[in-house]
Amino acid sequence: MTTIRAIRGMNDILPDESSYWQYLESAVAAVLTSYGYGEIRLPLVEQTALFRRSIGEVTDIVEKEMYSFDDRNGESLTLRPEGTAGCVRAAIQNGLLGTPQRLWYSGPMFRYERPQKGRQRQFHQVGAEAFGIATPDIDAELILMTARLWRVLGIADHVQLQLNSIGSSAARQAYREALVNYLSGHREALDEDSQRRLQSNPLRILDSKHPGTRDVLANAPVLTDYLDAESREDFARLCELLQAASVSYVVNPRLVRGLDYYNKTVFEWVTDKLGAQGTVCAGGRYDGLVAQLGGKPCPGIGFALGKERLVLMLEALALAPPAAASADIYVVNAGAAAETAAFAALETVRDALPALRIVQHAGGGSFRSQLKKADKSGARWALIWGEDEVAAGTVTVKSLREQGLQESLPVADLAGYLAHHSSP
Ligand code: ATP
Ligand code: MG
Repeated sequence: MTTIRAIRGMNDILPDESSYWQYLESAVAAVLTSYGYGEIRLPLVEQTALFRRSIGEVTDIVEKEMYSFDDRNGESLTLRPEGTAGCVRAAIQNGLLGTPQRLWYSGPMFRYERPQKGRQRQFHQVGAEAFGIATPDIDAELILMTARLWRVLGIADHVQLQLNSIGSSAARQAYREALVNYLSGHREALDEDSQRRLQSNPLRILDSKHPGTRDVLANAPVLTDYLDAESREDFARLCELLQAASVSYVVNPRLVRGLDYYNKTVFEWVTDKLGAQGTVCAGGRYDGLVAQLGGKPCPGIGFALGKERLVLMLEALALAPPAAASADIYVVNAGAAAETAAFAALETVRDALPALRIVQHAGGGSFRSQLKKADKSGARWALIWGEDEVAAGTVTVKSLREQGLQESLPVADLAGYLAHHSSP
């Protein structure tokens, strides 16, 4: 029989690797919490219509990346490809938008893409969203939060902030016309995708990696020249605030982002440590989205970071949390009476010292084989129960680090002894 394997692009994260994930996740949660953001937990599945209406019909995600299926009642559902749409849906539905809201979430997202390094079909993001604040101070806050996170993680020297304003939708409309005008004159030089986008989503052409298209783009009109006054002022203020907080950035007038709902500020944190998949965090303002999804008009801004790519960076830069041994103590208990004595004593020790990681040997076997396992476990101590200990009501504590260090003590003294000796 053939064995069943995981879906391509949907990876297992094994204990060796999950220590990086835990390190990343606890750092992110601590930073977000310290800025007053509250965690929101959202469903993985939403109505397909939610994503079509928010992300946009002619985007990569909606055109070809969504995992959609019919529910038993025939309704079309989709595994969420990103978090903002669901977060906005939840904020509207639960009446959260009467006052400013700072929210964050974390979890898997699903996109049908070609799997490669830093690109999966099930991948994981942390996102933050701030609602109800139209001024660029909140744009600055979100960016400062990410900058702090890179410092906490130790990767600040390896990421660069790219920043742009894509203006109001009216400004974008005017620019769009100018761009289409210009590009239509160079249609033959464009790649096939870009020719198609000329009708459907011309701004996305700015993202093209095709060399011919890039040559044409070099002389294309730039969005910056079409910005409305308010977007210009807000962007200038954002830049001032970032400078005041000593966050460096590069203005990239070609940065547009691939989702339809953005306006004004857009930003990406990029690295050269990961090859082609260089964006580790991306975000922007989406002032029209709440109303577009049926809520009372309410400005919003957010970002999402890709956990896989950050874990790859931590690995590439050898910024691992020290590979933790899985146990502090390994319990050797050969024979039924010894096993009974160990079970009777260890729960008391766990009550007294809940942080101590105690692995009790299970599955039987000789003294010798159990002691070998104790040595291999990386634990600092072995606790040994054999016939002699059972008869005497004692336990033997043996150091697995220092040769010959071993003592025998009454079981009743064990928790006290460990409390005294087991702190690192
Ligand atoms: P890309 O240009 O790399 O496809 P994107 O613009 O589609 O990225 P966003 O929707 O902005 O990505 O998602 C925010 C972040 O989530 C990205 O910057 C990236 O770090 C991560 N991300 C997006 N798609 C994937 C994926 N398929 N696998 C792993 N991480 C991803
Ligand atoms: Mg993508």
